[in-house]
Amino acid sequence: MEAKNLTVCRNARLAEHLYLMEFEGAFTPPALPGQFIHIKIDGLFLRRPFSVAGQKNNRLAILYKVVGKGTEILARKKGGETLNAIGPLGKSFPVIKKWKNVYLAGGGTGIAPLIFLADKLSGEDVKITFFYGAKSRGCIGFEILPAGINFVFTTEDGSYGDKGLLDRAVCGFIGKNGRPDVIYGGGPAGLLKKIGRISEDFSVPAFVSLENRMACGTGICYGCVTKIKTGSGWEYMRICKEGPVFNTKDIKWD
Ligand SMILES: Cc1cc2nc3c(=O)[nH]c(=O)nc-3n(C[C@H](O)[C@H](O)[C@H](O)COP(=O)(O)OP(=O)(O)OC[C@H]3O[C@@H](n4cnc5c(N)ncnc54)[C@H](O)[C@@H]3O)c2cc1C
Repeated sequence: MEAKNLTVCRNARLAEHLYLMEFEGAFTPPALPGQFIHIKIDGLFLRRPFSVAGQKNNRLAILYKVVGKGTEILARKKGGETLNAIGPLGKSFPVIKKWKNVYLAGGGTGIAPLIFLADKLSGEDVKITFFYGAKSRGCIGFEILPAGINFVFTTEDGSYGDKGLLDRAVCGFIGKNGRPDVIYGGGPAGLLKKIGRISEDFSVPAFVSLENRMACGTGICYGCVTKIKTGSGWEYMRICKEGPVFNTKDIKWD
């Protein structure tokens, strides 16, 4: 983990409220899929966490949705400006060589760490099916989607892909094509909980990247805790430190 000034080299609007920011200046050690960076934004006391959506050579990318003050400021950044970021933070998605048939299921900006994972897994003799759920066609960041991967789209209004929610598409796909070796997920808690249910129903391991409001990002403040099952019940664990990636069978959903 290190703190670094990253130079913005591209800040592009990809879809409704959805931006891709690319930086010159990657981290040492390099970020792994599932890890995040904690960005200092001018005028805001707390840094803002974003999953790494890609890191190659000396370039690092995040995919972000404009939802409030911080992301509005990010959206106005121009090439050449710098942002201070701490990273790479948190635990990455576990990858096991024998998992050859992999499902990625992401909703909204939850696709960010999965794009990075897809990039790392492609070329590794792994069959990837990427389920991408969005509100409507206008919210899909087509430009960032890696080539050579089978995508299954769902939109809530049916304007692109299947109409409906992502978990139903995943279940339907399993029904037709059989179980994958593993499911990786990102996105709203409701979707991640459903991925947990699919994992149980079909006896497939599943790992999801949880999000929560976060303060320090480095495990000191315990502001981002979530309930994780233990042998004797459950205990609070830090999304920034023990997570953000957790095995769905360990998450105690409220
Ligand atoms: C580990 C991790 C990875 C993340 N990765 C991404 C990513 O790749 N792309 C992306 O767009 N966002 C990501 N987020 C969420 C992102 O950090 C927030 O959207 C961002 O901090 C909002 O800042 P803001 O100042 O614009 O919004 P604020 O003004 O702080 O808040 C605006 C609204 O967004 C809600 N909100 C803010 N943060 C969160 C959060 N963490 N979870 C749920 N609701 C929130 C607030 O409750 C409020 O309603 C991630 C969060 C975590 C913890």
